[in-house]
Amino acid sequence: MIPITCALNPLSGREASMPAVPKAETPRRVAVVGAGPAGLMAAAERGHEVILLERSDRHGGQINLAAVPPHKDNLRFISDYLYRKAQRAGVAFRFSCGATPESVRELSPDAVIVATGSLPVIPRFCASAAGAVPAQDILSGAEAGENVLVLGGGLIGCETAEYLATRGRSVTVVEMLPQLAKDMEWCARVLLLRRMASLGINLRPGNEILSIGADNAVTVRNEKGREDPLSCFDTLVVAVGYASNAVGTINDVARISRRCREVGALLSVDAVHIAPHKAIDMDAIGADMLFCSAYKFFGGHIGIAAVRKSVFEALDTYRLHPAPSTAPGKLETGTQSHEAIASIVPAVDFIAGLGTGSTRRERLVSGFERIERHENGLADIIRQGLADVPNLKLYQSEGPKTATVAFTLEGRQPGDVCRKLCDRYGIFAADGDYYAETLAHRVGVDRIGGWVRVGFAPYNTEEEAELLVRAVREIAAG
Ligand SMILES: Cc1cc2nc3c(=O)[nH]c(=O)nc-3n(C[C@H](O)[C@H](O)[C@H](O)COP(=O)(O)OP(=O)(O)OC[C@H]3O[C@@H](n4cnc5c(N)ncnc54)[C@H](O)[C@@H]3O)c2cc1C
Repeated sequence: MIPITCALNPLSGREASMPAVPKAETPRRVAVVGAGPAGLMAAAERGHEVILLERSDRHGGQINLAAVPPHKDNLRFISDYLYRKAQRAGVAFRFSCGATPESVRELSPDAVIVATGSLPVIPRFCASAAGAVPAQDILSGAEAGENVLVLGGGLIGCETAEYLATRGRSVTVVEMLPQLAKDMEWCARVLLLRRMASLGINLRPGNEILSIGADNAVTVRNEKGREDPLSCFDTLVVAVGYASNAVGTINDVARISRRCREVGALLSVDAVHIAPHKAIDMDAIGADMLFCSAYKFFGGHIGIAAVRKSVFEALDTYRLHPAPSTAPGKLETGTQSHEAIASIVPAVDFIAGLGTGSTRRERLVSGFERIERHENGLADIIRQGLADVPNLKLYQSEGPKTATVAFTLEGRQPGDVCRKLCDRYGIFAADGDYYAETLAHRVGVDRIGGWVRVGFAPYNTEEEAELLVRAVREIAAG
């Protein structure tokens, strides 16, 4: 097998030995999985009738990450070019469509091309390290601490190191091979190495990581073969979800917060899924930052960030020159979405209106308690009603959870079950992983397109919960 050296032109460097790809004599129906450069190119080249399934909502695959480091934004043209070429060739695109054996079979293709790329790996010896993340996550926007160790100084490691250093991080790159970025084209490599040196990145080629302790103390074998302790990275932010958007599990955030305090970490809480179900007390759970969206609790589409004052003041934000350096303006972009902001007040009043008490806070907390009681009663009807349905699996924790019920039916795709619920019974339920990709992967439902998820609002009734149980039972019975 000859390795491909260019994501745009796989024939590059071997034009003489490989003929141009001919058009097919008899066009066939082909399913292509993955809209990275490989999938896009395969889809466009031979004049077949092609349906291209892409799990994410956009084309380009890893090119979208490759274009993030400094001086790399031109790479976007590669995927745009290949995408347009495929469009011109009449390829039918289905985005946000994770391919499964069933979904591919349904297309009745004559041939299937799997171009799903590769997955980043975190070596086992990093398992105990706090904050070990793949470079791809950093390039996708994940936050890094102040002192960052980049393990692996190939193209991706070096470009990620430059990206972090230009964002003010102190970066060390450890590479086992004697040369850095050995997999890069010569000219681009020389320039990158020069820029890395001038950014003050600590470059350690010829160094092998021997161990990473629980306290993130790193030991390497250096280029002279000696053991060298290297304490060079820290983890500052622990980011957790308050409640699972997929299966409703409520995490013990107060306990996580206590652990964060012990090691001096900040706690950032994604409260999007808990917000419609439970009153949130940021101080009681000990969060430093908390995020949610008003639409989840009946307001408009506007994000909400609650940041502890001391954290907010210390935060160095990227902003335009005229933007203030003080909170809250330093995180905002100019004219606000006033209509969306105005939509929050009646939503809060609505919930408070369901409760009792002398202050709005008391009414709000009591309103939420009423919502919880009502919704949990409905969720129990569903959980009990579905417990003995053959081939139905409920996904739920034993501990505290919101009134969110996720399940799968063996042999059925969640999307099909949802369509039947809607077409036959007028019930809306969602399918997918609801952004809980890791959990979906861990429990294996990513292979079938996730779960069917049902949830409740204060206006739902017992009759509706019973209708759902009957509907799912009938669908399960075929
Ligand atoms: C930081 C970085 C820098 C890089 N720099 C360069 C460079 O300078 N030059 C260069 O030539 N290359 C570069 N690369 C490498 C290049 O991006 C990859 O070689 C290329 O994207 C691989 O293409 P692919 O189509 O095989 O896979 P990918 O780009 O990984 O695409 C696979 C696609 O399949 C989709 N998919 C996966 N599973 C499913 C499923 N079940 N159903 C539907 N869709 C699915 C994924 O969502 C993805 O869109 C870089 C990569 C990175 C990360």
